[in-house]
Amino acid sequence: MSKQTDDLFKNIVSHAKEYGFVFQSSEIYDGLSAVYDYGQLGAELKNNLKTYWWKSMVQLNENIVGIDSAIFMHPTIWKASGHVDGFNDPMIDNKDSKKRYRADQLIEDKIDRYEKDGKSDKAAQLQQDLDDALNADDLPRLKTIIEEHNIVCPVSGTKNWTEVRQFNLMFATQMGAMADGAEQVYLRPETAQGIFVNFLNVQKTGRMKIPFGIAQIGKAFRNEVIARQFIMRMREFEQMELQFFVRPGTELEWYEKWKETRLKWHLALGSNPAKYRYHDHVKLAHYANAAVDIEYDFPFGFKEVEGIHSRTDFDLKQHQEFSKKKMQYFDPEINQNYIPYVVETSVGLDRLFLTVFANSLVHEDLSTEEKQDSRVVLKFHPAIAPVKAAIFPLTKKDGLPEKAREIMNKLKLDFNMQYDEKDAIGKRYRRQDAIGTPYCITVDHQTLEDNTVTIRHRDSMEQERVAIDQLRTIIGDLVSWNNLLDQLQ
Ligand code: ATP
Repeated sequence: MSKQTDDLFKNIVSHAKEYGFVFQSSEIYDGLSAVYDYGQLGAELKNNLKTYWWKSMVQLNENIVGIDSAIFMHPTIWKASGHVDGFNDPMIDNKDSKKRYRADQLIEDKIDRYEKDGKSDKAAQLQQDLDDALNADDLPRLKTIIEEHNIVCPVSGTKNWTEVRQFNLMFATQMGAMADGAEQVYLRPETAQGIFVNFLNVQKTGRMKIPFGIAQIGKAFRNEVIARQFIMRMREFEQMELQFFVRPGTELEWYEKWKETRLKWHLALGSNPAKYRYHDHVKLAHYANAAVDIEYDFPFGFKEVEGIHSRTDFDLKQHQEFSKKKMQYFDPEINQNYIPYVVETSVGLDRLFLTVFANSLVHEDLSTEEKQDSRVVLKFHPAIAPVKAAIFPLTKKDGLPEKAREIMNKLKLDFNMQYDEKDAIGKRYRRQDAIGTPYCITVDHQTLEDNTVTIRHRDSMEQERVAIDQLRTIIGDLVSWNNLLDQLQ
């Protein structure tokens, strides 16, 4: 990272902490690595992002329904899905620093360095070698590559490496009170399997006809070998996944449709389109016949935020085999039974949170010839802003606080509001700018005479005078989900 992008990233992390969006988990005990807590405003923003996703899937589409499956599932599910045998990362330790790394990431960092130094040929060759070794599951080869390219430990600076070993990313625990009779279960590493195993339940009870989708939002757990970059790579995180079941042979059409729909969904939040790109998978997982990542240009480079995968009938077929229950659908239109094909969209809520935060945080220079001035603003789309409006009495006397409270008590039935009477009005505006509140309502002496207030708009900083009895409609229109969802139609 250059100094400038490094500073940008540090700003994001410190702003998120300073204003109550994201805290390190167990901070008073010096934290727990790669685990984070969402604070009072972070929880609001996260809930709003979930609502946006849920509405765009379940409310806008007659043929998509949502479920909430348990985190614990029958252990055989993870055999069937391939996670017990194959959900591994290759890890390597440096004997001097005692630090652990993902072997593939060490090599990828080297590829980046070759690129930066203008050695594109070398970078391409190394990428090829890495892909070959990973595809062949050839761990000794990964070690040789690390040695051949003189890759050193970033901490100790030495090449004193252990062998490369496979490391399974699933967390295991015991279910049941007695240690003897207890069964080993896993914390789910993805939410998708909860959908697959409920495929028939939902299809039958919901009388769903193909094509149809099942959506779910929930926690997932991965014992990541190394955790980096704040809420980008966590050990406990949240996913929003859709499995869309289609007739075999139509999956690539649906894949293209979902690819387009999902990018549109991200851009509707007001993000800069230049910050997004598709990254097609060249080497596909054995069960996929097409896969793409939607990547976002974080301060540390383009990284995956969402994956869209055409997963064929792999998962349902595996569950049919392992559970001995038929996973078939009777298609009345063609009079045939088949195992449906699946197109999956999977977005990490925490990474999405980070993209929204990175996109919205702006330092604005407001200096004029007379004086220097600046402000820090979170320019969230009003529909996802944690606080929709703040209300200020201009002064703490003359009945203005009482009037402001009276207005607040009505508006809070519809909107998340904050009341603030401390400090000069300009300072109060700045506090709300810093947490992304789109509208500030000020109650002044004129209010007592004619029942009007001012609304100050966060982005333009312009103010307008409106009647109190219009506030609910005005703010309601400005923060409506409609403004986001309408862009997706
Ligand atoms: P990566 O290659 O970055 O580890 P992945 O390809 O393993 O990601 P998927 O299994 O496709 O990720 O999971 C879908 C989405 O879940 C990702 O696009 C990402 O947004 C999110 N996700 C995956 N792992 C993590 C994690 N450790 N922390 C936060 N979000 C994650």
